[in-house]
Amino acid sequence: MSELGITVKKSENFSEWYTQVLQKAELVDLRYNVQGFIVHRPWLMRIIKNIYRLFEEELERTGHEPVLFPLVIPEENFEREKEHVEGFKPEVFWVTEAGDEKLDRRLALRPTSETAFYYMYSYWIKGWRDLPLKLYQSVSVYRYEKNTRPLIRGREFLWIEAHDAFATREEALKQIEEDMENSRRVIWEKLGIPFLFLRRPPWDKFGGAEDTYAADTLMPDGRVLQVSSTHDLGQRFAKAFNVVFLDRDGEKKYVWQTCYGPGVWRIAAALIAVHGDDKGLVLPFSVAPVHVVIIPIFYKEKDKGPVMEKAHRLKKTLEEAGYRVIVDDREERTPGWKFNDWELRGVPVRLEIGRREANGGYVTLARRDTGEKERVEDGKLVERIKAIEVEFLKNLQERAKRFFEENIVDAKSREEVEKALKERKIVRMPFCGREDCAADLKEATDGGKVRGTPLDLKEGDYGRCAWCGRPARMVVYVAKSY
Ligand SMILES: [Zn+2]
Repeated sequence: MSELGITVKKSENFSEWYTQVLQKAELVDLRYNVQGFIVHRPWLMRIIKNIYRLFEEELERTGHEPVLFPLVIPEENFEREKEHVEGFKPEVFWVTEAGDEKLDRRLALRPTSETAFYYMYSYWIKGWRDLPLKLYQSVSVYRYEKNTRPLIRGREFLWIEAHDAFATREEALKQIEEDMENSRRVIWEKLGIPFLFLRRPPWDKFGGAEDTYAADTLMPDGRVLQVSSTHDLGQRFAKAFNVVFLDRDGEKKYVWQTCYGPGVWRIAAALIAVHGDDKGLVLPFSVAPVHVVIIPIFYKEKDKGPVMEKAHRLKKTLEEAGYRVIVDDREERTPGWKFNDWELRGVPVRLEIGRREANGGYVTLARRDTGEKERVEDGKLVERIKAIEVEFLKNLQERAKRFFEENIVDAKSREEVEKALKERKIVRMPFCGREDCAADLKEATDGGKVRGTPLDLKEGDYGRCAWCGRPARMVVYVAKSY
């Protein structure tokens, strides 16, 4: 590694900044020789496993159980729901051969698993006692994307998919709310990433869904990124897969279904992009692979003993308090090099222990979020780090929320829409509701997309559509997207 640090500013060249962070913080290796398939390195995998854990805890707390379904889905399953096939078929990878034989039917690598799960649900769900059924799996999925970008758009990417079935429509709609709350508790409360949950317009919903609700966050270059989505599937798949139950009233009925997909990969991308700074990653405690790095500093051999002794003593104390700690004792590296290296990797807290600290009953503590240094007495260290853990997340949340809110602007005319999109803002505007109008807007603004309506939208008079001037029936958010 010739140049350790990031050489561009995030605010000036986000794209290059993002690529450098991915490589220099050793998150991914992009040299694998299939486009859209990347190697996830240990530091990233530890972050991703922590993100998974946060979602899985929430899902299980609300009655979901883990399963693992096959990677391959036979074409006959895939064909059963018409809109679903239309939505996904252009992106499917097919397995057609094995050894030197041609398979008797094509097998899809799952692009999403409705048609695998619901095939089995027709066996498992017989009566009202079998409901609700709430299962999830943490897996990779496969889509033949033309343009790929690490952690943002891949041909192989990581996510969670939860598939729920209910006896009534009311319960299914409640699940949609629970899914959104699940996203809020993890993505906002634990990771500090702000987002808007929007109801997608009818032409942009998930293939086979009655309604799609999706969370968009804002990347530093002004483009929005969908980080999670939940879908009201109604009874469409139930009918396609004959998922029928005998209800308490003795009647046979189709189940009501929902599916929910937290985009773990994209959440990792947002975590990097939203909180990172010109020195690299800034990771909240909830997902940081290491919470505290201890850097021993000594220049004379006689100081090494007491410095190292204290470093390991504090490590033990902090570990007993539940923190993930390492002592960076690489002797071939200078303290300054180590500071930069751990800042690049986003470790929230650094402790410096030199000769004075070893003999003085205190440590020098540096925070990754603010860069501030302070002196902390040994006896108060655990208490101080506990406080920093809370302040740190709050600080990241406030910074991110400020950026997000400052970049939403209201527009009432075509000129205002064009200007705001050019300035890389999210536009909030009155809208006629027509697909043609949305298509025209997208074309004219080089990618400005109607992302959807707020969840609490009431019917009413919204004046004139900011784009076409016809009567507006709703308010929508418009943005360029990944
Ligand atoms: Zn319009």
